[in-house]
Amino acid sequence: MSFTGRLAGKVAVITGGSSGIGRAVCRLFAQEGASVAVLDRDKIGAKETCASLSNHHGNRHCFVHMDVSSEDDVVACVKSVEGEIGKSTILVNAAGITRDQFLSKMSGKQFDDVIAVNLKGSFLMTREFVRAFTAEEPGSIVNIASIVGKTGNIGQANYTASKAGVIGMTKTMSLELARKNIRCNAVLPGFIKTPMTDAVPEEVIKKVLKAIPMQRQGHPGEIANACLFLASEESSYITGTALEVTGGL
Ligand code: NAP
Repeated sequence: MSFTGRLAGKVAVITGGSSGIGRAVCRLFAQEGASVAVLDRDKIGAKETCASLSNHHGNRHCFVHMDVSSEDDVVACVKSVEGEIGKSTILVNAAGITRDQFLSKMSGKQFDDVIAVNLKGSFLMTREFVRAFTAEEPGSIVNIASIVGKTGNIGQANYTASKAGVIGMTKTMSLELARKNIRCNAVLPGFIKTPMTDAVPEEVIKKVLKAIPMQRQGHPGEIANACLFLASEESSYITGTALEVTGGL
């Protein structure tokens, strides 16, 4: 891909950067000139992502082993990123988990774990990012929600609740943060080929593909492209939106 420098000179923090969508976002943002902080609870994956990032444009990268659902980890990592690569003006909340189960069989722990990572983790990261934000230049936050946060999905009461929560929270954040010159938007992926969906049984994949007008799974890079648009100044008058990237699903 050619260098267009859409994020030249920016510092971007990406959670879930060890894998799938988060990793694709890290790579694209680095290619576009950003210095990238790769955050994940998978230390080896975070280190691998970090080592693979382009630094042809003088950008510097770092990785932090952390858990987005831990308030202490979040507070500490936002400070450590600033020390290593500078003050961030871009945050992408991509860390997420599933713990699928039919409603009648879902344990309280399965419900709480998903909310803690997907919803509270995004809240904690955004709060600390905003507390540290003193830049004169504009800021942008991109929350990775999901189309199922709007539609619901069998076996995912916990996950759909967390993603619907992320969509609502994004809208509130956009209202509160506009006066600070920070935009906040959500991306709603459909069915994307990552380690998260590799665990889905073949027969379920076939069923979902039939429901997708474009008849295929998306690639992590296609979500990263939407994140790049929302993180860059190309979307300078867009805030509070929920952008669906679903192949028409
Ligand atoms: P993925 O490949 O499993 O990547 C998620 C990453 O987040 C993993 O590296 C995971 O580490 C990390 N993570 C999980 N819990 C964490 C925590 N508490 N603290 C820090 N890092 C944590 O999944 P993906 O498909 O790229 O998903 C990325 C985001 O897109 C998620 O929010 C997901 O809900 C959303 N999404 C995905 C799809 C899809 O079709 N793939 C569709 C809609 C939305 P571990 O491997 O250790 O868990």
